[in-house]
Amino acid sequence: MTDTADSDAPDAAELAERVRDGDAPFYDLEAHADADTAAAARRLLVEAHSGADLDAVGAYGFDAAAADAAVENMIGAAQIPMGVVGPVEIDGGARSGERYLPLATTEGALLASVNRGCSVIGRAGGATARVFKSGMTRAPAFRVADVAEAEALVGWVRENEADLAAAAEATTNHGELLDVTTYVVGNTVFLRFRYDTKDAMGMNMVTIATEAACDLVESETTASLVALSGNLCTDKKPAAINAVEGRGRSVAADATLPREVVEERLHTTPEAIAEINTRKNLVGSAKAASLGFNAHVANVVAAMFLATGQDAAQVVEGANAITTAEVDPDGDLYVSVSLASLEVGTVGGGTKLPTQAAGLDVLGVRGGGDPAGSNADALAECVAVGALAGELSLLAALGSRHLSSAHESLGR
Ligand code: NAP
Repeated sequence: MTDTADSDAPDAAELAERVRDGDAPFYDLEAHADADTAAAARRLLVEAHSGADLDAVGAYGFDAAAADAAVENMIGAAQIPMGVVGPVEIDGGARSGERYLPLATTEGALLASVNRGCSVIGRAGGATARVFKSGMTRAPAFRVADVAEAEALVGWVRENEADLAAAAEATTNHGELLDVTTYVVGNTVFLRFRYDTKDAMGMNMVTIATEAACDLVESETTASLVALSGNLCTDKKPAAINAVEGRGRSVAADATLPREVVEERLHTTPEAIAEINTRKNLVGSAKAASLGFNAHVANVVAAMFLATGQDAAQVVEGANAITTAEVDPDGDLYVSVSLASLEVGTVGGGTKLPTQAAGLDVLGVRGGGDPAGSNADALAECVAVGALAGELSLLAALGSRHLSSAHESLGR
């Protein structure tokens, strides 16, 4: 889209009139005026059409041109309250130190609850977090004649991984192809490409890279590409493959809370929390055939994603988490949370928007890390510690039977 800022440029009312007259398409107003005027013109049109009052939607605090790559047909911004919890001490594999964690949400009581978790983790000396696996995937689907041809394709991929990597990596300065896993279903072959995307969440990066690799497959074999994404990736859908194999960052956090901290601050016992975790998060989730064996990891993932410019739809994968709790030999409480498929980035996508970039600044992880990938690792570790704090606080609320009263006093 082009911004035009000359004195002949129309104001919002004139621009809206041009749309009504059929002289300017609703979706391309940025070709006729600057991005803020284009958004204002759309608000006028939508207000006239719907009767809605869009003044609050138009009261955004950033240059609309900055949102050019983030949204089309912009009319303003959906403003979500942002708060912080902590600060909480994090012993991380990528970065250590005391951090405030930014969360954007409309769920009253969420920050109060996570903050309570951070506070008891602080009294226990902080939490430890580590990233164990990293890799963004794209799995195109190919059509072959039959299973014999499928076998030939699988063999070709095995022998030509270096060439596939060269083709894919020619499209990116940062991405590295880690491996290609093959899956055959009759005459359909899926190639699951997995990349190290450094500080980028990587979905655009790996889609472009995989397309180049697919061109090579099609030119060297009999296979035909049917879909660049064959859903075995798996992006934005609940899928066991992500829970088992990981996608994005596989990250875990843990802490050991002295018994007196649990009793005095959380008004329950290590035994009660361990039992609730077993019966609810493990047995209950198993009975429900859930992919997430946790209490509410999605809450913290969603709120931190919104605060830091992550792709909100990937909360689906981010909630693939298992929480454990046990009483250790000293009678203290050990708790952990392991997020199998947390897709985060500190460059690209929504991270460039001003408020989301500020959220990353609060964590000290904006932009490319040194070494590359360390900022996104550090972000993943912060989200994992926030999730741990949330799990702890909710389990404790159930243990002390304070869950509904907290929601009543803070959320209504
Ligand atoms: P992107 O904004 O498309 O690209 C980020 C780029 O930043 C990278 O490609 C890389 O360029 C560059 N970069 C600079 N410093 C870097 C560093 N330290 N580490 C890694 N890269 C660095 O972002 P993306 O993460 O690939 O994709 C995220 C976007 O994809 C989001 O907006 C999301 O909503 C969207 N999305 C797309 C799909 C899809 O199928 N296409 C699916 C879901 C979501 P080089 O590659 O040249 O190194």
